[in-house]
Amino acid sequence: MNKKKERTILYPGSFDPLTLGHLDLIRRAAKIFDKVYVGVLVNPYKKSLFSVEERVIMICRITADLPQVEVVSFGGLLIEFCHKLGIRCILRGLRDQGDFEAEIKVAQGLKVLDPDLETVFLGTDPHYSYLSSSMVREVASGGGDVSAFVPDGLAPLVAEKYKEKAMT
Ligand code: ADP
Repeated sequence: MNKKKERTILYPGSFDPLTLGHLDLIRRAAKIFDKVYVGVLVNPYKKSLFSVEERVIMICRITADLPQVEVVSFGGLLIEFCHKLGIRCILRGLRDQGDFEAEIKVAQGLKVLDPDLETVFLGTDPHYSYLSSSMVREVASGGGDVSAFVPDGLAPLVAEKYKEKAMT
C-alpha cells in the first residue's frame, strides 16, 4: 500500500513582530496541511525590532498548541531553502490589492525559477486586513498599547523593546 504523501508548506516572512493576522493564517494552514513551517527570514540589510532568535522563540511559544507547526529561520534564497527541506508549497497572505500586486509577481518569478514550486494564497480574515507588523511597531513606538493586534503575551515584549531603545 502506498504511504500517503505529507502535505507540507512554508510560510516565510519577517514576523517582526508576529500579528494576529499572521497567527490566523498559520492556524488556517495547519488545518489544510500536515506540516507547516513558519520561516523567519534572516535579512542582514533590514533593521529589525526583534532578533531572528527572539522571533523564532516567540512564534514557537505562540504556536505550541499546533503540533504540525515548526518554526525555523533561514537566510539567502527562498528557493534554495525550499529545496533543502523538500518543500513544494509556499504560503502567502493577501490583505488587499497592494499585497496581490506584489505577491503575484514574486510567485510568478518563483515559478520561472522552479516550475514545481507552488505559491498558495490565503485571503486575510476581514478582522485583520488592516493589520501589519509595521503598524504594530508604529503604535508601540509612540507608547501605544498593541495588545489588540498581537497574540497574547506579546504586547509587553514589544513595549519592553521600545523602552530598551529609549534608554540606549
Ligand atoms: P514580509 O516582510 O515577507 O512581507 P511579513 O511578516 O510582513 O513579511 O508578512 C509575511 C506574510 O504574511 C505575507 O504574505 C503577508 O502578506 C502576510 N500577512 C501580513 N500581515 C497579515 C495579516 N494581517 N493577515 C494575514 N496575512 C498577513
